[in-house]
Amino acid sequence: MRIQRGGPAAAGLALCLGALAACGGSSGGKASPAGDTAAPPTAGATTGTSAGGPVSPESSGGRSLAGKVIVIDPGHNGGNASHPREIAKQVYVGNGTKECDTTGTDTASGYSEHAFTWDVSNRLAKILRSQGAKVTLTRKNDTGVGPCVNQRAAVGNEAHADAAISIHGDGAAASGHGFHIIEPLAVGKNAKIVAPSAKLGTALRDAYHSGTGIAYSTYLGTKAIDRRSDLGGLNMSTVPKVFIECGNMRNKGDAAKMTSASFRQRMAESLAKGFQNYLK
Ligand SMILES: [Zn+2]
Repeated sequence: MRIQRGGPAAAGLALCLGALAACGGSSGGKASPAGDTAAPPTAGATTGTSAGGPVSPESSGGRSLAGKVIVIDPGHNGGNASHPREIAKQVYVGNGTKECDTTGTDTASGYSEHAFTWDVSNRLAKILRSQGAKVTLTRKNDTGVGPCVNQRAAVGNEAHADAAISIHGDGAAASGHGFHIIEPLAVGKNAKIVAPSAKLGTALRDAYHSGTGIAYSTYLGTKAIDRRSDLGGLNMSTVPKVFIECGNMRNKGDAAKMTSASFRQRMAESLAKGFQNYLK
């Protein structure tokens, strides 16, 4: 989900919080079978229907990422909703303090953001590893609590990652759709990563847009790029890093894509292409 920061999107806050509440009661729900019927935007390119499925030859690109270190942060966690005290703990985020972590949002049918981010992250990791990259995820499963946002950033820092991404699905007003990338603004510690992160953001934006056919966000950002100084995961990073809100889970059309396993594979392949383009 997108953390509210006031301004023109204030109308989305109530819905966002509503989604949070719903998430607490229905997290972990399975994708509706109907969602799996969502067709990719173009025929013939989707491969693999499970995280353990094959990696398509066109996405593997040989061993082009050999020697590269990539950290993937699957947003939220399955145990967060049942541990409100732990995730409400305040942590330092570079320019103030913030909750350790949040529960995330879900679709109207109850497919949770944490399950979505976990699935896409593992699909992406599998592709990147097949291309020779060393990949680390910031959490080990989808049933735990946290880690806190500052720790999620620390994983990338300690790995000296060449690039890092935090994967999310948004919980905005249902009328808005499309994806967006969030790039860091300088808050001190992260000043050196602002420029390379913008380059990473552009590479991922272009690859995701052309690979999935998902529209640029209709409700914020400029050509699917937003920049923020209130996210601990970006503020505390010392390696190039962006967030992606892969779609708006509260929007019916985006939700149909996000609940489709074959479409999530397409998302992962598109993001892998973006890393390839950035790291080449
Ligand atoms: Zn999120």
